[in-house]
Amino acid sequence: AEGYKELFQGIDVPVKLADGSFKVPINFDNGATTPPFKYVCETIEEKIGMYGAVHRAGQKSIYSTESYEESKQKVLNFFGLKPEDGYCVIYTKNTTEGLNLLAHELCQKEGTKVLSTRMEHHANDLPWRKMAKVFYIEVDENGLLRLDELEEKLKNAAGSIQYVTLTGASNVTGYINPIHAVAQIVHQYGAKLIVDAAQLVAHYPIKIKGTRADENIDFLVFSAHKIYAPFGVGVVIAKKEYINESWPYVQGGGAVAAVFDDDVYFKDSPDKEEAGTPNYLGVIALSAALDMMTSVGMNQIVRHEQKLKNRMLAGLRGIPKVTLYGDPLYKARLGVISFNIEGMHHSLVNQLLAERGGIAVRNGCFCAQPYVARLLGVSDRERYEMMQQSQRPEPGMVRASLGLYNTEDEIDDFLEMIQEICGLKDSELKRAIRYRLKF
Ligand code: PMP
Repeated sequence: AEGYKELFQGIDVPVKLADGSFKVPINFDNGATTPPFKYVCETIEEKIGMYGAVHRAGQKSIYSTESYEESKQKVLNFFGLKPEDGYCVIYTKNTTEGLNLLAHELCQKEGTKVLSTRMEHHANDLPWRKMAKVFYIEVDENGLLRLDELEEKLKNAAGSIQYVTLTGASNVTGYINPIHAVAQIVHQYGAKLIVDAAQLVAHYPIKIKGTRADENIDFLVFSAHKIYAPFGVGVVIAKKEYINESWPYVQGGGAVAAVFDDDVYFKDSPDKEEAGTPNYLGVIALSAALDMMTSVGMNQIVRHEQKLKNRMLAGLRGIPKVTLYGDPLYKARLGVISFNIEGMHHSLVNQLLAERGGIAVRNGCFCAQPYVARLLGVSDRERYEMMQQSQRPEPGMVRASLGLYNTEDEIDDFLEMIQEICGLKDSELKRAIRYRLKF
């Protein structure tokens, strides 16, 4: 079970530590992006001499078009969909672009109402703020969604909320939201559900269809670079009939059926939403990553990562100076663990983990400021005042986010390093801060 490392490329390049020694780094920043599977790299290498523009001319184009279209079937298949289910796949640049596309497409009418949550990444909040009137479901003191508000707000809006948008799993607390149960309530009130699955796809099996038709997810968005393929491809899975109405988000060639001097006829989705030459190699890489995840098995992935997560949470709970965010005993959580160490700025903890332990974590607000502020108990007024000061102690946290190739030894190494950091004397901390200022 500790053997997943050999599936990955580029994770064993040593880094230099502050004491001058070298170490193979530990990467606990999989929430930001993930390294590629070896199989993904091999697939790209094989195809890179053979690609042509998709939907254009020549043998290479035909070959590329075929595998491009096949990749869309593979995506649908990965989420348990068949062609007759009426869903299509639109490739974008990343999750952010996918959510912007949906907000643009779905909120063309002035005054469209959308229900979102206070748990969202900015990518699933700001596009809706631009295009619609957004209402929010709050979180409780543990950062869990107040699901009672979902029904209450939909009911109060008396059918005027058209879309509910929700993260599949939080990139701060790792909470997995009950998307099918949410879908059922959303549909009961005549709305449609968008799921931001950026954090979920690599770590948890997802079926777009629920056990009943009213539990189906209407739209799902994610990024290839968070599922062990490189950057540059996002995926929008959408019910075809829901995105055929407006002018597309991006205008150009490939999206149109006919252009007259004074009129334009667009193709149906997904073609309508894919103007311009697509990122064929990125799509092939994504497709290979899905194959690899299927071959490892999502249940195996969950088992391995849950074991690591439980070990890390249990270890951190035993360290008195550590404050964990989110309920550590809540079962439906991914290996995304945010914390602070008493008396230490989150950026200092990040720095010390990197330079003493070769351990990469992220710190800050993880593009989810409203959620992080709630977990920290910092009001908007306080944050606004901090923003006015030049030397501001920005609120934030340290985040360790796990991936398939991480091991129990790495968790133990990390916990030992956290213990060591908690025990550092003031003089040592001051030295570390000075060291940082030199660079
Ligand atoms: N949503 C969530 C929950 C995320 O974690 C992220 C990436 N941190 C995004 C959206 C945005 O993904 P991308 O940067 O690939 O557009």
